[in-house]
Amino acid sequence: MTGASYIQSMSSSPSVRAPRGSADGDRIAWGLSAPFFVLHLSPLLLIWVDLEARHIWLAVGLYFARIFFITAGFHRYFSHRSYKMNRGMQFAMAFLGQTCIQKGTLWWASHHRLHHKHSDEIADAHSPKDGFWWSHVGWILCHKYQGTEWDRIRDFAKFPELVWLNKWHAFPGIVAMVVCFLVGGLPALTAFLLSTIAVYHGTFTINSVAHVFGSRRYVTKDTSRNSLIFALLTLGEGWHNNHHYYQSAARQGFFWWEIDITWYLLKLMSWLGLVRDLRQPSQEVLARNRVKDNVDVGMLAPTAEAS
Ligand SMILES: [Zn+2]
Ligand SMILES: [Zn+2]
Repeated sequence: MTGASYIQSMSSSPSVRAPRGSADGDRIAWGLSAPFFVLHLSPLLLIWVDLEARHIWLAVGLYFARIFFITAGFHRYFSHRSYKMNRGMQFAMAFLGQTCIQKGTLWWASHHRLHHKHSDEIADAHSPKDGFWWSHVGWILCHKYQGTEWDRIRDFAKFPELVWLNKWHAFPGIVAMVVCFLVGGLPALTAFLLSTIAVYHGTFTINSVAHVFGSRRYVTKDTSRNSLIFALLTLGEGWHNNHHYYQSAARQGFFWWEIDITWYLLKLMSWLGLVRDLRQPSQEVLARNRVKDNVDVGMLAPTAEAS
């Protein structure tokens, strides 16, 4: 089997894969998901609220600032421990990440670890093999994944302040909304809400589209892809095949031409002493397991590290 046909075979569902959405746990938890749906009605505010250019820039700024807290914080730090920081910075990163209203830090990271453990397998919470809708947003809304996977996040569950923040996960988002309203009134609050919707779908795109569109450099056991467009939209997360290949790296753009803004900002933060010990793959690891070198599925090498 060629590398290309192997990838193709990964895209076809095995017969044992049941359609998602039919089992009890897969059904939408309407009550718990109500804030998510209500937030998506916030563009209706534009009927009454006139946004000036400064509010548009505020929304853009809030989008990229908070995408950074998701990528650098929730993903590269809490999910993968790809660098270190002190306890105060750790709490700040968790708090700021939770202004994105994507549930708690430990909830987010524990489910992301599940994704890497079972990427594109039946146990994966959000494989696009279960359909675009399911991988993009369906899994977040259903009953089955509402709770935190505590067994997968024991390392951070030992910090009571993170457990507290995870329990009261809406608190940072409410604080951010109140601050926006007090500082800039309804237009600033509207900008915050619109950017929150954009942050949702920027983040979710990596779960859905980054396993479907783009190129594959490395042989991995999943369908992850690399894409410049998604890397630009998500400050570096679009190099998703790189990431699945070597998930504990603090950088996801492995080469100078792979733009990874989160990595540049983490480097800057390390020079300022805010973070430390940024992990990177070695040159040897980068050179191994290229898709073009693996012409037979029998040559499928293990990824550079265990999940
Ligand atoms: Zn993935
Ligand atoms: Zn990851």
